[in-house]
Amino acid sequence: MAPPVHLTFLGGLGEIGRNCAVLELEGSLLLIDCGIMFPDNDMLGVDVVLPDFTWLRERADDIVGCIATHGHEDHVGGLSYLLRDARFPIFGSELTLGLARGRIEESGLIDRAEFTPVADGEVWEIGPFDVEFIPVTHSVPQSLATAFHTPQGTILHSGDFKIDLTPVDGRLTDLARIGSLSHDEGIRLLLADSTNADQAGYSRSESNVGEVLYNLMHQQEGRRVIVACFASHIHRIQQLADAAIAFGRVVAPLGRSMRRNITMARELGLLRIPDRHIIDVEDVGDHDPGRVMVLSTGSQGEAMSALTLLSSGENRWLKLTPEDTVILSSHPIPGNEHAVTKVIDNLFRLGAEVVHSGVSDVHATGHAKAEELKLYQSIVRPEYFVPVHGEYHHLVAHGRLAERMGLAHDNIVIAEDGDRLVLDDDGLRIEGRVPADYVYVHGTVGSVGGNVLADRRILSEEGVVSVIVCVDRARRRLVAGPEVATRGWIHVEESRDLVADLAERVRRAVEDALANGDGKLEKVVRKAAGQFVSERTRRRPMIVPVVLDA
Ligand SMILES: [Zn+2]
Ligand SMILES: [Zn+2]
Repeated sequence: MAPPVHLTFLGGLGEIGRNCAVLELEGSLLLIDCGIMFPDNDMLGVDVVLPDFTWLRERADDIVGCIATHGHEDHVGGLSYLLRDARFPIFGSELTLGLARGRIEESGLIDRAEFTPVADGEVWEIGPFDVEFIPVTHSVPQSLATAFHTPQGTILHSGDFKIDLTPVDGRLTDLARIGSLSHDEGIRLLLADSTNADQAGYSRSESNVGEVLYNLMHQQEGRRVIVACFASHIHRIQQLADAAIAFGRVVAPLGRSMRRNITMARELGLLRIPDRHIIDVEDVGDHDPGRVMVLSTGSQGEAMSALTLLSSGENRWLKLTPEDTVILSSHPIPGNEHAVTKVIDNLFRLGAEVVHSGVSDVHATGHAKAEELKLYQSIVRPEYFVPVHGEYHHLVAHGRLAERMGLAHDNIVIAEDGDRLVLDDDGLRIEGRVPADYVYVHGTVGSVGGNVLADRRILSEEGVVSVIVCVDRARRRLVAGPEVATRGWIHVEESRDLVADLAERVRRAVEDALANGDGKLEKVVRKAAGQFVSERTRRRPMIVPVVLDA
């Protein structure tokens, strides 16, 4: 009997974000990605959502490494948190490691990580694992699929991918290699990207976006152009720079990550922009506006990002005017729509012209749509399939698609965060669970518990009422109060009677409790005030009772 392989999902199955899976063989753990998720609107004051590392922390000594499939934050952004509790080497392409490095350096943990660059087609021995790196096309260069050759057969992880047949750098998804793996040894288990499983058809090629951008630049002759896109989307940046240069423009990177990534990608030879066509954004004023393209971060409407600041007139070197055109070469990630709309509104307020993915084909997805996923299934022909990287409905859609392609229903496992799977001689099944709650991070240090978030939600939606009383317990007397203070519940000036009634209700309750010798006065105050507020205003603000002893 061959030893079993375990597979534990700490994130990414049930949400787009915080991707983190753990392969386990003979006691050694190998991570596939370690990402973060950006918070939803209702996660108040939360900066980042992490996978729950509780289980990994207990087994920190067993971690032999982490495969970083590509440089997006939802795949490498969590490393700077996990490295506090564990030391391990990180394997990925040069660009992936370069992108991952930034956050790890900022957290001062650079000496705890060992960066090991890998190249397309290479096979590495990592602990007991035999890992092969296979090129794929995605919205960041040098993205990888990984094939794990194990005693239980080959496990293929698709990485985030699309099947772009005309990628900007000519580096294709290596379907030929995947086909030969499938043909020669067979693929026991496939884990594949589900992001666009419920989108019909094929994704557009990235080079098609280049043509749109070129034509757009033609239309914008004589006007200054500001383009926002993901700073890691080096191929988009290349096509934008090409279009700019074709019309005699210089390129001015704006925003810290845009500047950093452009420098890094040029050094790695992944981005070709001649020196004479790059200027500092500080010098934008020295150039004819019709000869400039500003490349900005902030396409997701992030607070404090370069584009958001521009839209509110807060950039030092650049003030937008009706002579400017702003292009958002992006599509809002679910959860960011509102922020992006606000930025677009503000840009229009400044008089600028705005072009976005709703009015022009200035963006293409980096994830395979249904027809590409079917093609992929037909080449991989796995024995077992687990859809990954998606919300639950994406995973289900991807599973159904595989079933329609002829894969047996029982060989498709829809797993969720926290599920621990085993692959052994008998097949694949879910065997148990590990902790996998959302871990909320506020600021750079501590995590925020779910009840703190619940409090923030109540405060933001219902407000707070605090009721202060001062008592002499020995004499069983109310000495002062109740004093009522409130924020966000009602307008006190306009509701004096209501506040007086509230104080009266609490006074009676406290006096009764004192007379009866009930010592739990805070509870008494909370209950009396809460009932009154709910009866009279149908609201449930947070009630904060304060009992002082005289
Ligand atoms: Zn992703
Ligand atoms: Zn990605």
